[in-house]
Amino acid sequence: MRVFHDSDTIVAEPWRTKAFPILKDLIVDRTSLDRIMAAGGYISAKTGGVPEANSIPVPKHDAEESMDAAACIGCGACVAACPNSSAMLFVAAKVSQFALLPQGKIERKERVLRMVEQMDKEGFGNCSNNYACEAECPKKITVTHIARLNREFIRAELT
Ligand code: SF4
Repeated sequence: MRVFHDSDTIVAEPWRTKAFPILKDLIVDRTSLDRIMAAGGYISAKTGGVPEANSIPVPKHDAEESMDAAACIGCGACVAACPNSSAMLFVAAKVSQFALLPQGKIERKERVLRMVEQMDKEGFGNCSNNYACEAECPKKITVTHIARLNREFIRAELT
């Protein structure tokens, strides 16, 4: 769908991702992404008074990268674009947004292991560096986050 001309015939097929069951024409169930988030896409924090916003310094570059990753809206376009139906870009964005910030570093090992485990359970495919996900992402999430996800996963497995 990236290149077509007037009068071209376009065949629109349903997404063929096992993890996104088809509900009806042009509508799929994307709650598998919600279950990945529930597995680890959060930080644990005590309730109570709001802490002073500037009490934990965050390097500018880390803050910006984290915000870029947090722009992911969970649309699933990356999964639909991937020939393997991989959700790596989605999971990488969610892992990155927390792993880059001090508040998220505390649970980083458990988070990445649980989210990747849930991603596998849901039936998403493996990443083979096709880059179609990055090309289709409406929020311009880059595959550099997948590299970070892989590093986070290896570090968590080794320790
Ligand atoms: S296409 Fe981009 S915004 Fe949509 S789920 Fe994937 S990473 Fe997130």
